[in-house]
Amino acid sequence: MTKPLINLNEINKCYQVGDQPLQVLNNIKLNIDSGEYISIMGPSGSGKSTLLNMIGLLDRPDSGQLIIDDIPTHALEEEQRAKVRRNNIGFIFQNFQLIPRLTAEENAALPMMLAGIDIKIRKQRVAELFSQLGIEQRLHHLPKQLSGGQLQRVAIARAMVMSPKILLADEPTGNLDQRSGWDVIDVLESLNTEGITLLVVTHDLQLGQRAARQLAMVDGKISEDCTKGEGHDQAS
Ligand code: ADP
Ligand code: MG
Repeated sequence: MTKPLINLNEINKCYQVGDQPLQVLNNIKLNIDSGEYISIMGPSGSGKSTLLNMIGLLDRPDSGQLIIDDIPTHALEEEQRAKVRRNNIGFIFQNFQLIPRLTAEENAALPMMLAGIDIKIRKQRVAELFSQLGIEQRLHHLPKQLSGGQLQRVAIARAMVMSPKILLADEPTGNLDQRSGWDVIDVLESLNTEGITLLVVTHDLQLGQRAARQLAMVDGKISEDCTKGEGHDQAS
């Protein structure tokens, strides 16, 4: 058996809400292989975003191990974690999270700029991605001049710019009309076909059911882990 790309072992996260502790992730165990396409569904508040933020190294568990590509990220200092994040993980959000005063090209190039990569190489890489994503005419537009579907493509370009192994998407179609939403999912699926490991959190059952592996969350636990076409497994 090959080693999983992502391994979560007994991950716990608790928030203090007033004087009450709220267990948001409850002993999560999960293995994800390189190249998988996974959807995460479940009611609002069940911990989907928190789980994705853990895997994306945007948040830290209270306890448990999170190993990404053989790196025990739970044991790292923040600076090293940021480096693992930059080199391995792309993240896209429901509300795009682009910087309004930067052009589409500058937004997409930001992770490369922060990594100190030369402007010529940045421009080349962004041009290549924009053309792959069908937004090559939008390099110099500001976010306010773009449609929702175009904004999400710029965000996808930014997520892909460092050629990560893992792409995480939290409700990526939540702010889009149905047509642009499906287009964005098509783009994500084509990136997965090219080899990226894809995790998509979605409210949309139809979208979620397109994934090869479908997880359901309830109350901070993975309640179902099923493979498309093979029916349901109760998660342990
Ligand atoms: P989902 O994405 O499934 O809707 P979340 O992971 O965003 O759920 O949130 C899970 C639970 O954790 C919710 O009850 C939410 O209110 C709570 N929560 C999330 N972030 C915080 C925080 N920073 N402080 C306190 N509670 C939080
Ligand atoms: Mg959420």
